[in-house]
Amino acid sequence: MTDYQIKGIEQGEATCDKCGSSLKQAIILARLDLGGTPERHPYYVGADCAAKLTRLSQAAVRSKAVRAEEARQAELQTLRRQEASRRLWQQREREWLQNTYGVEDMDAASKKSGKDWLTVFNEFFAWRRQVDRM
Ligand SMILES: [Zn+2]
Repeated sequence: MTDYQIKGIEQGEATCDKCGSSLKQAIILARLDLGGTPERHPYYVGADCAAKLTRLSQAAVRSKAVRAEEARQAELQTLRRQEASRRLWQQREREWLQNTYGVEDMDAASKKSGKDWLTVFNEFFAWRRQVDRM
């Protein structure tokens, strides 16, 4: 029998992927492959179908889903923060290159200055460390 992991809760109208009934809120499940790894493709199901698939009570499914959803949201928030930070540093790198070498990327700065790529990168990194300390 296939095993499922409870991944969270999706708010809003949905259709149960198992029985086709319409839902106001879906439990997100991931099917586990033979090695026990959750598949990427999510299943959206109602609480009753989730209970059948996971062989748990509906109450147990709901409380596990609430906890999983909290973890999922925290993870999403971390990813969004990392993405925002990555974009900010890409932007700062372009600005630094523009101000320092009058170009937009490391390769062009390296070519223009005759320094090797790593030297330019280390200059940027030293500047970045100073900014981080501010
Ligand atoms: Zn269903």
